Amino acid sequence: MKSVIKNVKIEHGEELKGRVLKVHAKTRSFETPTKAPTSTELNAKKNIGFDDPFLNPIFEITQRFTQGSISNFYKTNGYHSTKIKEINAHADTLINRNLVKYFPQFRKDTILSDDDMLSLIDVQLESNINVISLPEVKEDATLIEFKNNFEKYWKYAESEKPEAVLMPYLNLSQDPELFREKLKYLADYEGSLHAIGIKFASPNTYRPNLRALASFSDKEFWVHCSSIKRAIWNTGIPTSQIHMLQKYGVDTVSVEIPMAGGSNKDKPLSKTKYFNSEKVTIPDISESLRDGSLTCNCPICRQQNFNDLTEDLKRYQGDRSLNSVLRDFSKIHEVYAATSEFEISRKRIIDDDLNNYFKEKEGLRPYSEDNQTSLNKFLD
Ligand SMILES: [Zn+2]
Repeated sequence: MKSVIKNVKIEHGEELKGRVLKVHAKTRSFETPTKAPTSTELNAKKNIGFDDPFLNPIFEITQRFTQGSISNFYKTNGYHSTKIKEINAHADTLINRNLVKYFPQFRKDTILSDDDMLSLIDVQLESNINVISLPEVKEDATLIEFKNNFEKYWKYAESEKPEAVLMPYLNLSQDPELFREKLKYLADYEGSLHAIGIKFASPNTYRPNLRALASFSDKEFWVHCSSIKRAIWNTGIPTSQIHMLQKYGVDTVSVEIPMAGGSNKDKPLSKTKYFNSEKVTIPDISESLRDGSLTCNCPICRQQNFNDLTEDLKRYQGDRSLNSVLRDFSKIHEVYAATSEFEISRKRIIDDDLNNYFKEKEGLRPYSEDNQTSLNKFLD
């Protein structure tokens, strides 16, 4: 068998109690739940000259498109090759040891034409990507549209790049009945199709779909969720959505490319968002200091004094604000700290104790009983 993933086995787990999956890959096998760093997070490392590697087994290379810009693939000379170059700038160094996936990020009302879809598949087949993402053609694609899209591109990807694994995506934001039908359809491919992608949407609004996913967690598919928000859009209120999804059978997670900031360059540095392991949410960095020093001991934080750190980061500033440089620092910290936190929750899943773990963590507590009333206070 040529495929980069040999098989996927459930090692431990139960509906709504999380699960530990072992993905046997040619690159290296790994256990879930865990986090996949994105190209945005890799760029943050480059921006501030931080050389230590991320040790994660999966990486996601993300590119953002508008409805119009996808057609540049087939309407504008050079666009396709530029996008491949951008992907390979990251993928070339990762592909031998890791699963490298791609995620095209676009607005939820985007409708993908046949040409758009073929372009998005081709750019992956021609790059150093070994997990090929297949987006849904539109927001509420019918079951027939979903099946046709899947069957067509599964065969195509397999014939063009036999070692690659196809990851068909389901939009979390869709009609619950439709979502369940699509999951049921994919379930028939257990054992031959190894991976399923979920395009993130509000876990509060789309709770029925998360429940459907939880009931699907006895199936041996690697389930990855992309485009997770670190904060509630428009309010900046931090969330724990990256970590709450493990309860619903999501095995690996990656965050969305944030909208370009810039308006908040006068914000105090102490208000920079920073993942806090004790709370499992992303509050102001000031909440993660003790006696003026960071409490985290990850490879980039090393319990440094906060004032020394911000002073030191000034050398990477160039034309940017110091806030923006500190945000890069925070992203790198989050890859290390959130990944370590998943190692802790993995142990709690094995002990059948995920619900107590959720209760212990301020950010996860609202999700501990799947309690809609308390959730409404926290979520959009
Ligand atoms: Zn850290």
